[in-house]
Amino acid sequence: MHRELFMIGYGDTYYARTLTDVSPRRSLEGAVEADAAIVGGGLAGLTAALDLARAGRSVVVLEAERVGWGASGRNGGFVGPGYATSLANITRMVGRDRAHALHRLSIEGARIVEENLDGLGMTDNKRVYGKMSVLRYHDPDSLARQCETMKREFDYRLEMMPTDAVREVLRSPKYYQAIYDPASFHFHPLNYARSLAKAIEDLGGMIFEGSRVTACDFEKAEKVIRTDRGEVRARDVVLAGGGYTDNLVPRLRRSILPIATYVLLTEAAPEKIAQAVRTPMAISDNRRAGDYYRLVDEESRLLWGGRITTRTTEPRRLAQMMQKTMVSTYPQLEGVRVETAWSGLMAYSRHLMPLIGRLRPGVWHVFGFGGRGMNTTAIGGRVIAEGILGTSDRYRLYEPFGLAWNGGPFGVAAAQLTYWTYQAMDLAKEHKAARAA
Ligand SMILES: Cc1cc2nc3c(=O)[nH]c(=O)nc-3n(C[C@H](O)[C@H](O)[C@H](O)COP(=O)(O)OP(=O)(O)OC[C@H]3O[C@@H](n4cnc5c(N)ncnc54)[C@H](O)[C@@H]3O)c2cc1C
Repeated sequence: MHRELFMIGYGDTYYARTLTDVSPRRSLEGAVEADAAIVGGGLAGLTAALDLARAGRSVVVLEAERVGWGASGRNGGFVGPGYATSLANITRMVGRDRAHALHRLSIEGARIVEENLDGLGMTDNKRVYGKMSVLRYHDPDSLARQCETMKREFDYRLEMMPTDAVREVLRSPKYYQAIYDPASFHFHPLNYARSLAKAIEDLGGMIFEGSRVTACDFEKAEKVIRTDRGEVRARDVVLAGGGYTDNLVPRLRRSILPIATYVLLTEAAPEKIAQAVRTPMAISDNRRAGDYYRLVDEESRLLWGGRITTRTTEPRRLAQMMQKTMVSTYPQLEGVRVETAWSGLMAYSRHLMPLIGRLRPGVWHVFGFGGRGMNTTAIGGRVIAEGILGTSDRYRLYEPFGLAWNGGPFGVAAAQLTYWTYQAMDLAKEHKAARAA
């Protein structure tokens, strides 16, 4: 099993194990011309490419590894509205009107994914609706306010679940109230990415895997990007490297911090797991970089994600580390074996908002989605495609979130320190709640 997975090039993740179409694509060799060239075959690049292809443009996607190999094909698979930072923070940065317009785009992003799933007839991608965001301390008032705001401002329905109802389905004493979002869902992001790729090819687009872009020339109206063995000439280039963005354009690399996060897949243990998690919904807790998980494989296994670090190499004892996290919430899962665990890189900007815009005429960037990428890559890809097609300038709504320097090594240290500080603050809140209970 392990060897086979290694050979298909996606590593040993749950998604690689359950991938429906594994066929590889060829690498770029020689010279190709297109209207638009996309660097990065994650969901941001693929969504932009698909929208351009739908509008009749010729597109070429160059992916260093395989389509969906990055964060897009190894994540939690939760699709819902919002960004990597809260609406309150966005409002503080850009004011109420723009923050609300941006939030509406984030809702649209989730709908784009649904439309693609429906429109492309993706039979290998079952959606499971419903998401619970759980508190680890008692605070029903703040949740009630959040539900009211979403209803009033965005006509978006959320419901508050009281502690009893939460503990009925999530058998952990760590949990209190939750917000239930009926419109969010979870799915198989790698199958989705590969279906988008196929749709692009069906429209005449070209996708090359194993084709890292190592050089570029953006000086003239016709842009050139080069790999080891080929080059693409295009009027527009979209840079969509996510957390794997390299030094191809140093200014882009300097504007993000790649942050690693981890996921585990348990063995099939339906009885034991049912003692802990009794809902097929997507679950996350409210801590910054807290736990998120869901049942998979006919509810027989848990797919559990959590933790973040600025260290980009995989820790040696990753599976044990993640299992400890899971058992600290559900002691009844002690002894449930971890079958595989993996990591992925997310791109975080200093302001925690996506970096979407035009670097210079004909050169576009769409990355920096952090831990909330399923909806935001969709809307990011769409507004970039609209910008290239000249059908809208909605990408400009992201202009206030510029390519600020990530702080270099100081930025990395500061990010890790901020995470530890948040962790300590979250723990203090939980201890206070436990003492009060
Ligand atoms: C473990 C994990 C769990 C997550 N869970 C969720 C979740 O449940 N819900 C959610 O909304 N978000 C989640 N996220 C975040 C989400 O996955 C990302 O924000 C999103 O997938 C980013 O997409 P992207 O297209 O920008 O980047 P990626 O998917 O990382 O794709 C970038 C691609 O660019 C390629 N590339 C880079 N440089 C070059 C080059 N020079 N030439 C050619 N190709 C290049 C890379 O190989 C890579 O395949 C999670 C992330 C991780 C890591």
